Amino acid sequence: MNTKTAYRTHTCGELRLSDVGKRVVLVGWARRVRTLGGVVFVDLWDRYGITQVIFNQQWDKDLYEQAKKIDREFVIQVEGEVRERENKNPNIPTGEIEIKASKLTILNISKLPPFTLEEHTDGGEELRAKYRYLDLRRPPMQRNLIFRHKLLQFTRNWLSKEGFLELETPFLIKSTPEGARDFVVPSRLYPGHFFALPQSPQLFKQLFMISGYDKYFQIVRCFRDEDLRADRQPEFTQIDCEMSFVDENDVLNTFERFVTDAFKELLNYDLEPFIRMPYEEAMNKYGSDKPDVRFGMLITDITKDVQGHGFKVFDNSEYVGALPVPGGATLSRKKWDQWEEYIKQMADVPGFFYVTWKEELKAKGPIIKILGEETTRELLIKSKAQQGDAIIIMAGPWEKTVSALGTLRMNIAKELNIIPKDTFKALFVVDFPLFSWNEEENRWEPNHHPFTSPKDTDIHLLDTDPGQVKAKAYDLVINGVEVAGGSIRIHDQKIQQKIFDLLGLSREEAQQKFGFFLEALQYGTPPHGGIAFGFDRLTAIMLGEETIRSVIAFPKNKSGRDPMLDAPAPISPEQLKELHLKIVESDRE
Ligand code: ASP
Repeated sequence: MNTKTAYRTHTCGELRLSDVGKRVVLVGWARRVRTLGGVVFVDLWDRYGITQVIFNQQWDKDLYEQAKKIDREFVIQVEGEVRERENKNPNIPTGEIEIKASKLTILNISKLPPFTLEEHTDGGEELRAKYRYLDLRRPPMQRNLIFRHKLLQFTRNWLSKEGFLELETPFLIKSTPEGARDFVVPSRLYPGHFFALPQSPQLFKQLFMISGYDKYFQIVRCFRDEDLRADRQPEFTQIDCEMSFVDENDVLNTFERFVTDAFKELLNYDLEPFIRMPYEEAMNKYGSDKPDVRFGMLITDITKDVQGHGFKVFDNSEYVGALPVPGGATLSRKKWDQWEEYIKQMADVPGFFYVTWKEELKAKGPIIKILGEETTRELLIKSKAQQGDAIIIMAGPWEKTVSALGTLRMNIAKELNIIPKDTFKALFVVDFPLFSWNEEENRWEPNHHPFTSPKDTDIHLLDTDPGQVKAKAYDLVINGVEVAGGSIRIHDQKIQQKIFDLLGLSREEAQQKFGFFLEALQYGTPPHGGIAFGFDRLTAIMLGEETIRSVIAFPKNKSGRDPMLDAPAPISPEQLKELHLKIVESDRE
């Protein structure tokens, strides 16, 4: 790597004991400046590291006076000699040397940054977002973005080596069918007409398969105008992939290898083989379709055990489930009340009860009364609780209740510190239902997107029991976070039409929305399937970051705005006119 330029001979991270005696020129930002007993110490920083520079009054009075003018984040150029440091700093690679300065040029001054640019800063998130370019100078952000770069390069190389072609697709398109709202772009040339920004390149990547490219990938920005939800960005990056002549196992095996190799190469971490867990099992045991399998606390179905004893809440519920709470017997009443309150606000399931097991059993709710002490104890054992633990029992409709138990499972495990640190557990969730029922709109909707293939063995159910049809769809989950999702696609037009019919998409509507695609399907479509990774999520997980904002250079904030640009923002009346747009005040929220 050549880092020598007109301004420097070396970077601030380069010099070592073996360079002692060399005359060098360094440039960078004055990260820390201290004056002590006639000596100015400057920690000179650039992307590569930090080097200590010394200006001693006794060596050169003028230079020393000049150096006293340096303030934080000034850009300076220093000429001098490398010498061994007396007080060595073992924490940094350049900690054994320093520069005895003989010349100083202040290349640029700097306003005082509104927060410290250290490992741990005193700046709040909003302030840092406004001055993102300064936040990006901080070591954690530099590490994250450099890691992101490495993961990007790794991905490109790995996929290229496997024969995937990096092919680009347009940003100015018509709607794509991923189920969120589109961002639209008004057309100046065609009044009243709009482009949409892609929610994903879904149809284009399928077209590439029809065009015979066999294996495609793209590291691509996608746009979804969703309501603000935890840790979502309106624009985000996907590793988007598609393959021809594949079944589910081909795709899963390929991308298990990709992820395993990435963890090994970039983190030197050996992932265990990925289990493949059916959706139903994930829901039943973990109460989530993105199960965190780093720890136990599995949910047990106790419907049959507790029904028929005359307690209405149980008898009238579709499902009753139990969640063990390790060490739960010694928790305070206040804690239980908090959890009950928390879950009541999250989900409206009718029953929340618990049993604690010290020496004796104690219960909130009538469980001991209806089952008797002995049977209740058996129930605790069945629910994988031991003496000293507790179980939470919830009753209600199946999906809502297991989901609520799943939410509690995560929440309690975090609070009680049960989740092992520095471990990664990856798995594929498979066999998703093809449709889910939208109660508000009284219709089926695709769980993934309408081009996802049903399982061959379930095709006959399309006519009789669509809710039971399983899809050739899969998600990759790491540490309880959905990192990728994909499916095998429908390549048979008759089945595609059937799916549209089931979704209540009229022929005209389908024609208008995806006519070009339906036509393309008729020209020799190979069996094909693919997957897309949330690249920001994958990066954040690998780095142990809580939010994807920490791995995106210029993200939107929690309110979906860019505080630095102050966007979104109004446009001028001239622009509006040119685009044939009028703002209707009453429509603005
Ligand atoms: N287009 C899908 C998504 O963005 C992924 C896929 O089916 O390959 O979630």
